[in-house]
Amino acid sequence: MSKRTIYLIHLATPFKHAKHYLGSASDLAERIERHRSNGGARLLRAVNLAGISWEVVRTWRGSRSDERKLKNQHNTPRLCPVCNPKGEVDEQSS
Ligand SMILES: [Zn+2]
Repeated sequence: MSKRTIYLIHLATPFKHAKHYLGSASDLAERIERHRSNGGARLLRAVNLAGISWEVVRTWRGSRSDERKLKNQHNTPRLCPVCNPKGEVDEQSS
């Protein structure tokens, strides 16, 4: 049961330097609910308070080390189907 859901959140409006949030959870629905109610990541709490809307735009199955690998690429805009609609990285859905 080490598999988690890695998720990419796209902010409708950039917040400071951030336009995305990449995280992972064993229960995605529960985690998103927590983000919505300001109980999760500090960034999303600030984003919520600023009135910026956001949505989960992509998910992967993986471990924490997979999450770290994605973070270390520092290219979340390229992973994001909203920012990169041409789908260079589209291997999961068509
Ligand atoms: Zn994006």
